[in-house]
Order: sequence, then structure tokens, then C-alpha cells
Amino acid sequence: MKEGEIYTFKIFRYDSFEPEKPPSFQTFKVRVVPGLTVLMVLLRIRDEIDGTLSFRSSCRSAVCGSCAMVINGKIDLACRTQVYKFEDRTIVLEPLPNMEIIKDLVVDMTPFWSAYEKVKPYLMRFSPSPEKEIPQSEEERKRIDQFVNCILCACCYGACPVVSRDPDYLGPHAFAKLERFFSDSRDERPPEELIHLDNVHGLWGCDTVLKCIEACPKDVRPTDSIVSLRKRLLKYRILGKR
Ligand code: SF4
Repeated sequence: MKEGEIYTFKIFRYDSFEPEKPPSFQTFKVRVVPGLTVLMVLLRIRDEIDGTLSFRSSCRSAVCGSCAMVINGKIDLACRTQVYKFEDRTIVLEPLPNMEIIKDLVVDMTPFWSAYEKVKPYLMRFSPSPEKEIPQSEEERKRIDQFVNCILCACCYGACPVVSRDPDYLGPHAFAKLERFFSDSRDERPPEELIHLDNVHGLWGCDTVLKCIEACPKDVRPTDSIVSLRKRLLKYRILGKR
């Protein structure tokens, strides 16, 4: 690509506070250079062309997970998506699916966070508190590495076909985090914590079509956590122990 190529950005526009105006795509022409990310383009459009454009962003480094959206039909983080990788110089930006749109690329993440809260995403301890920290071996830490890497960006939630047909389904992120704590050598949560997930809105709702794995920008495999939690649940149901 030559420096300074013009790209066309078609950006989804909608304002839930003005529901009488139908959703539409607005076109912006932006000159881009190698190294420019989709997020940088959005910031430039907002700062220099249209200050009413709404989107979320923060760290610009694929750490905070704020800027998840649909980029040319694929769910990803805008901050880690290079513009020049698209040979077609038209880029379509849409909000994450499976959540209500508040404005433009900003969705209402309430159901995502509610599901997350339901799995109690924190260390559960019943033993007396130790005087110092609880050490973990390298091996024990490796067991939770994958799920610790989850940045709660909601890419998997937006990609999940079960969430799209069942708003009560917990979602891949919640299972990934629950497995993260069940696998943690310091966690003492009882297996009874799985009982409320023993239904189609919980562990048995997953179609295992792996869309969550495909969408995850941090290489987390939420489907693996669902399989593991199902095994934990069956073990508890059959043997009565964790
Ligand atoms: Fe994002 Fe991956 Fe965590 Fe899902 S599992 S919230 S896609 S980081």
C-alpha cells in the first residue's frame, strides 16, 4: 500500500434517545498510513470530522477490552486491527451483536455484566486466613493462565448464537471466569455453586459451535471451560464431591 491511501469507512449510526430516526450507515473518507488502527481512525473521525460519533475505548493496547465491535463482519478489538490489512478499501463498522444499542457503536453491556456477577468471580475461601499470601506453584498458575487472560471484552458474548436466541443464557465469558476460579489452587468454592447452572440457560445451553473461541482476541477458549465445568457438575452429581 502506498502511504496516504484513502479508505472509506461505513459506520453504523443510531441514537436510542431519538428512536424515531432509523439506523443508518454514515460514510467517512479517511487518509490512512501503515500502522493506523481502526480505533485511531475512529478517534480521528470523532476529533476532526464528527464529534457526535460514539464508541468506547480506553487503553489502545488490547488490554481493557472496551473497543470490541464488528469490523467488516468479524468481531474484534478496534485497537488491535490494522486498517491496511484490508485489501478492499471499504471498511464497515457495526456495534457488537446480542446487546441493545445505546448509540452508534456503544451497546448496553448490562446483561453481560449481570451474567458475570452471577458466577461470583472472586476467590472463595473458608479456611482461616493465612498470615501471608497463599503461594502457588508454577504448575498451579499455568492451570489458570488461559482464563486469567480474559479481558472481559464481550467479543465472545457478541458472537455466541445461544445468547442471540436465549437472553437468559449466561454466556461464554461467565463460564471462562468460573472455571478460572474452580481451577485456582487457592479457591475453596463448594461444588454446590454449580447447581444453579445445571440447566439449559447454564452449562447445558452451549451448542459447542466454537464461535466464542473464534471471536476471542486473547486466545481464551471458553468452550473448554464449559466442558470442564460440565465434568465437575457430573462428578458432583454422581460422586457428591468437587
Ligand atoms: Fe473477551 Fe475472550 Fe474474555 Fe470472551 S473469553 S470476554 S472474547 S477475552
